[in-house]
Amino acid sequence: MTLSNARNDDRSLGDSGPGGSRREGAIQLVGFDGDDTLWRSQDYFDEAQLEFERIVGRYVDLADARLHERLYEFEAGNLALFGYGVKGMALSMIEAAVTITGSRIAADDVHRIVQIGKDLLQHPVELLSGIRDAVAEIAADYDVVLITKGDLFHQEAKVRQSGLSHLFRRIEIVSEKDPATYARVLEEFDLAPAQFVMIGNSLRSDIAPVLQLGGWGVHLPYHTTWGHENEAQVASDAPRLRVVGHASDLAAAVADIAASAA
Ligand SMILES: [Mg+2]
Repeated sequence: MTLSNARNDDRSLGDSGPGGSRREGAIQLVGFDGDDTLWRSQDYFDEAQLEFERIVGRYVDLADARLHERLYEFEAGNLALFGYGVKGMALSMIEAAVTITGSRIAADDVHRIVQIGKDLLQHPVELLSGIRDAVAEIAADYDVVLITKGDLFHQEAKVRQSGLSHLFRRIEIVSEKDPATYARVLEEFDLAPAQFVMIGNSLRSDIAPVLQLGGWGVHLPYHTTWGHENEAQVASDAPRLRVVGHASDLAAAVADIAASAA
């Protein structure tokens, strides 16, 4: 799903915007991840996991049940069918609860698990510290795109509520963030991977596939990360990778990459 930004979409890459000056150079496009890069997300999933454990914990011995690991096994096993996002997570929670309780879970508690999903879909969008300024600063010098995955409805709502959508030339809501997805986006922009920087919190989704293609990455770790997103092999000293601790360091990291790429 691609949402073109009408304000910006007819602008050709490298053009000077009205009154703006666009940098000449090797880096032409900067991508931003959404969840836990622009706005808080995993915190809400962590809270949902604890609520799930409280519900299922009434049926089983928590010490023996390995609830965290077993739920993750269901989620990971269902990803290829359900895709990412809250609705798939809620279905995996129900399946896990029925299995773990030996089908003893009461309908009321199944309903409570559905409510966990509904609550997650309605949490407020809370931008992370400093990110609004960072996106604006980078968008002044480069074309920026938002590349995010998860439930389509949920991601669209978060983009709308973020107040940032006008800064992005394009918004891509994708089902998987792998090399093929990034290659397709770059092809649509008629760019080589070496002209692209991706910024995000997930090594697996935001950094590894872009580095693999020959692009650049800026890793902005978040304090909590879903296990799935940590499953990636990326050397912290990879030459096309920068790691920053705060959004206020992002523009400098992109500038550093642009200098290296030139
Ligand atoms: Mg993320």
